[in-house]
Amino acid sequence: MKVTLATPITALPRVGKVLTRRLHKLGLHTVEDMLMHYPFRYDDYSTVSDIALLKPSTNATVRATINLLANKRSFRRRMFITEALISDETASIQAVWFNQPFIPRVLHQGDTVYFSGKVEQTPYGLQFTSPSYEKAKKEQTHTARIVPVYSVTENLTEKQLRYLVKLVLPLAKNIPEWLPDHILKTHSLVALPRALHEIHFPTNLRMLEKARQRLKFGELFLIQLKTQDIRQALHSLRAPAIQFHEQLTKRFVSALPFTLTANQKKVAWQILRSIEKTQPMNRLLEGDVGSGKTVIAALVMLNVAANRYQSALMAPTEILALQHYKTINTLLKQADIPIALLTRTEKRFRGEKTTEKKILTAISNGAAKIVIGTHALIQDMVTFSQLGLVTIDEQHRFGVDQRRILKQKSPELTPHLLSMTATPIPRSLALTLYGDLDLSLLKEMPHGRKPIITKIVPPEKRERAYGFIRDEVGRGRQVFVICPLIEESDKLGVRAATAEYEKLQRNVFPDLSVGLLHGKLKAQEKERVMNAFKAHDIHILVATAVVEVGIDVPNASVMMVEGAERFGLAQLHQFRGRVGRAEHQSYCLVFTDSTSEKTTERLHALVTAKNGFELAEMDLDLRGPGEIYGIAQSGFPELKIAKLTDLDLIQKTREAAESIFSVDPTLDHYPMLKKQLTAFSQELHLE
Ligand code: ADP
Ligand code: MG
Repeated sequence: MKVTLATPITALPRVGKVLTRRLHKLGLHTVEDMLMHYPFRYDDYSTVSDIALLKPSTNATVRATINLLANKRSFRRRMFITEALISDETASIQAVWFNQPFIPRVLHQGDTVYFSGKVEQTPYGLQFTSPSYEKAKKEQTHTARIVPVYSVTENLTEKQLRYLVKLVLPLAKNIPEWLPDHILKTHSLVALPRALHEIHFPTNLRMLEKARQRLKFGELFLIQLKTQDIRQALHSLRAPAIQFHEQLTKRFVSALPFTLTANQKKVAWQILRSIEKTQPMNRLLEGDVGSGKTVIAALVMLNVAANRYQSALMAPTEILALQHYKTINTLLKQADIPIALLTRTEKRFRGEKTTEKKILTAISNGAAKIVIGTHALIQDMVTFSQLGLVTIDEQHRFGVDQRRILKQKSPELTPHLLSMTATPIPRSLALTLYGDLDLSLLKEMPHGRKPIITKIVPPEKRERAYGFIRDEVGRGRQVFVICPLIEESDKLGVRAATAEYEKLQRNVFPDLSVGLLHGKLKAQEKERVMNAFKAHDIHILVATAVVEVGIDVPNASVMMVEGAERFGLAQLHQFRGRVGRAEHQSYCLVFTDSTSEKTTERLHALVTAKNGFELAEMDLDLRGPGEIYGIAQSGFPELKIAKLTDLDLIQKTREAAESIFSVDPTLDHYPMLKKQLTAFSQELHLE
């Protein structure tokens, strides 16, 4: 039988039912899958030492002959011990294995074998402890070389997998090169078959590095091409041209209770210029928590309304949608624009509560010019008359799909898209993940803000912290207390927050007014609590992570976070952003019982990072992107080999993708590349 790349692993020698199941578990079904299953690290056993020169507490490889080999049973330690005496021309040494009674069936007295592993000092001299072993042959697989280490599942050994990969490796030459020649040359990349050989069984460290570069390049390059592809597709669509209304905008700006910062003006201008075009805008507005993004959205939506188009503003929670509804009503009061609110439980239009039916009608006949809501906005029943702009607040990697889902009566027109986020995205991520978006940055904070003082509070200082909170309340300020989920069954953290609320109200601050806010409350109750907090009827608000994004209560000056080790850095930064929103000196008190080094390191980053951007870089290093940006759920490919910290490569692949796309956007001159890109897109379910 001829083995090809598509041959199922079951056809390979030594692969029976059991092994097949284990390989399938790793996602390995065909020969090609095996080749694409890269090692996650290597053991460098390429240097073979003389036994006489071995040193304790090192890793080493020797080529030796077996003089003695025997199993013995240790009743005291309840295990099998295999002992061997091995020697080369220079000396001899003992080797020991535990619970591997089959070894004497594999190795025999007189065999010449490579042993690789840890050398340890014992009372009886030096010994190899559980070394890997492999009989000496023409070419070694498991020892005396740079040995690949794969991720394996239970009961599948490194040796088995290594053996199989080595077996199919000659077929790597049948994997066609899909990177164009000139790109390989310009970037001095090795060809794909060679790279695959070297990534599995490196000749030396230099070639391993070359293989890595090549495979990383290929991976990032495809992402960049896909990004260009999306960009291109968007460019061929038509959007309504939104004209800038200067007088109206000036009146709006001068009626604000504050002056816009130069940065806010610049960003607003960037957006207004983009939506003047008939190509759909695809823009990400990144601004740290509290940098004032809402007012920019209001100004833009005002212009859209003046052009007789509708805007949709989507928020992640009901609380936030309601807050936006109120804020935007206030900001646009004198412009007299009909604004609607649509969430699962709240329906309002022109400041009045109303029915769902009336709202839906107002949206579909175009009477509602600004429609604010949650995911409820993308339900089937909602149809817009003339949607000109979609604004999405605080949701990551949203947009392309959401814009598509928001239905309207004139499907030939694609609305502009503005995505706003306070989770700062490091440059590398912005260039890959969000490569199809234009970026606007709000780096400056509104004037008069003082940096927030962040402290990590150890358990013994809890009482003092409560004293401090009491003082702040005495000075007229207000306080947030955030509780984490304590157990899995308590998915929304309701129980934790409720218990904390009761403790604080009864035992710690019986004389103050403590409030409770969590996701399980009815919408009316949530609103009542939020209003009471805004109106200063509540001094201390105990809440779950529902306050994470967006809530704006400028009088609050203390953010206290319980169980901080359970939150991500970006999330903690979001919490912190709930205070310091006015001229008062504000504080973030971070409580943790954890003494783990990792927690300490992360929380320390929160204290030292000057802004969200710095913090995001640190978080990216500490945790990787998936956890921070919800990338797993966003359809972003999990990187197999490249890292988002490979900034240089990201930049290079982006330029390479742009240069190819600018002359051949349909990739007709690169059939192999086109095929590869299609396969890649299908894998991502982007098509
Ligand atoms: P975020 O960017 O986190 O969404 P918001 O839009 O909620 O921030 O704004 C935070 C607070 O700053 C709000 O109370 C808002 O009224 C206020 N604000 C916005 N711009 C300015 C400014 N230029 N000067 C002073 N305060 C401002
Ligand atoms: Mg906001």
